[in-house]
Amino acid sequence: MSNKAVNILLVEDDLVDVMNVKRAFKKNNISNPLFVAENGEEALEMLRGHNQKKIFDSLPRIILLDLNMPKMGGIEFLKELRSDENLKNISVFVMTTSNEDNDKVEAFRLNVAGYILKPLSMESFIHAVSTLHNYWMLCEYPNNN
Ligand SMILES: [Mg+2]
Repeated sequence: MSNKAVNILLVEDDLVDVMNVKRAFKKNNISNPLFVAENGEEALEMLRGHNQKKIFDSLPRIILLDLNMPKMGGIEFLKELRSDENLKNISVFVMTTSNEDNDKVEAFRLNVAGYILKPLSMESFIHAVSTLHNYWMLCEYPNNN
């Protein structure tokens, strides 16, 4: 039952999108702790626990990832993540406005679990987040990272 408390990390620079995800969590009664990073660089710092800051009691199992972000975008972040022994197993769902084939090819090459295209209507978005929630609730995860 330990999977019921999986931490979720949202990497998103757009505050409206962050709000929408929070709203969708609330609407779907999702109780998983949701952490937010504004870009890839900040996400890596959080995941790697820089400055002795321990942010997570256990590493997030799921990352919801925007692609277009300042400082470090989603694809560059994925490259870092996949080459980091401690982080490479984390499941990543891309949520982006980029309909570029290049981005899709790159993202799947970097082993994303899914690629979701925005914008969706709020109703569709709530449904999409509910689907993701069902996915991580269904999955069993090992106790330790
Ligand atoms: Mg963005």
